[in-house]
Amino acid sequence: MNNLYFNEEHHLFRESLKDFLQKEVVPHIDKWEKTGHIDRFIWKKMGDMGFFGINYPEAYGGLNLDFFYTVIFLEELQKINSGGFAAAMWAHAYLAMTHLNAEGSEQLKQKYLTASITGDMIGCLCITEPFGGSDVAGMRTTADKKGDTYVINGSKTFITNGVYSDYLIVAAKTTPSAGNKGISIFLIDRNTAGVSATKLDKLGWRASDTGEIAFDNVVIPAANLMGEENMGFNYIMQHFASERLIMGINAHARAEFALEYATQYMSERTAFGKTIDKFQALRHSLADCYTQMEICKTFNYTVAYRMNLGEYVVKEATMSKLQCTKMADEVIYQCLQFLGGYGYMEEYPMARLSRDSRLGPIGGGTSEILREIIAKMIIDKKDYKPITK
Ligand SMILES: Cc1cc2nc3c(=O)[nH]c(=O)nc-3n(C[C@H](O)[C@H](O)[C@H](O)COP(=O)(O)OP(=O)(O)OC[C@H]3O[C@@H](n4cnc5c(N)ncnc54)[C@H](O)[C@@H]3O)c2cc1C
Repeated sequence: MNNLYFNEEHHLFRESLKDFLQKEVVPHIDKWEKTGHIDRFIWKKMGDMGFFGINYPEAYGGLNLDFFYTVIFLEELQKINSGGFAAAMWAHAYLAMTHLNAEGSEQLKQKYLTASITGDMIGCLCITEPFGGSDVAGMRTTADKKGDTYVINGSKTFITNGVYSDYLIVAAKTTPSAGNKGISIFLIDRNTAGVSATKLDKLGWRASDTGEIAFDNVVIPAANLMGEENMGFNYIMQHFASERLIMGINAHARAEFALEYATQYMSERTAFGKTIDKFQALRHSLADCYTQMEICKTFNYTVAYRMNLGEYVVKEATMSKLQCTKMADEVIYQCLQFLGGYGYMEEYPMARLSRDSRLGPIGGGTSEILREIIAKMIIDKKDYKPITK
């Protein structure tokens, strides 16, 4: 199947990325998992290698490559077993930078997108609020226009890169009475007076910083509005499609990593005088897991192919995240079981994988919300359309 979607250049890219991750990232992962802080030097090295510019225009230093390079980037990040490190990287490159590239003005892009691609600046995307994440339209953060500025007040929570990023892409209400038609998106520089962040402790994704952010009379230039005023909800929904496919791809890749590890382990571990991969109960369970993972992977590649052609695959991307994150949790649960007591130990990969995987059905739209979207599209014939600029 690989050759259906990946050519020789893709393979070379994968090899050089794998090599880079093993040499430059893996030696530091345990430390970053403990401190919850990814050292700045690696952002710069990733930028120098071009990894943050894969799909961005050459005008800002990007490589403008097809979506299958992004697929490779995401897959290999999952295979070094730090959901937190991976999340910090893709939240920067595919959450914050996606909005910046699509809606940012030329001036904002020259300053922030260029520096994001080189790894000199880190971004985060701030949508979720303490009062509720699923109900995006119910957000309470406000942006009041005053002359040629906006004044931002409110708070955000659970923000990946929320503490150590240099700029924040923030959704706020410009017309609070208008519900989802009153939301706009802004870029806020970290150094602006009135922005403060608190680091949250969490079950998994421990290498990444997850922040609660407060905006207290934060005055920003009106030019930091991204796209059109009151169009923010549409922008968020539009980009959710790629975000959800990304999370689906992450899920098939971490399940594949778990399965490859478990298969090797089972070929070496013995019980009752034979290796445990000879027990039929485990063999069948492994066969089921591989089947589920391969089905998800194949589906994701097909959706990625269509997205690469420019199709708006919102329903399929939603299905991808819903199904693949469920599959990954189930597969990783079973892989931990294959390792017996060792599965529960921190020295073995399944412990971290299990807690990192659990975020899959929650972040970027819970499984319940995803089912709502799919049901609306199928039953109510709701048609989500992309924004044409
Ligand atoms: C580690 C981590 C990183 C994150 N990173 C980011 C980030 O970078 N940026 C960002 O903006 N957000 C981020 N999030 C937030 C994430 O997207 C939200 O947690 C998620 O959207 C759910 O929102 P909530 O936590 O407020 O849950 P709630 O909305 O309070 O939901 C609670 C429960 O109610 C269910 N529920 C809610 N509404 C319905 C409904 N209509 N029908 C059925 N069930 C419903 C939900 O499915 C869930 O089970 C992150 C979260 C975590 C944990």
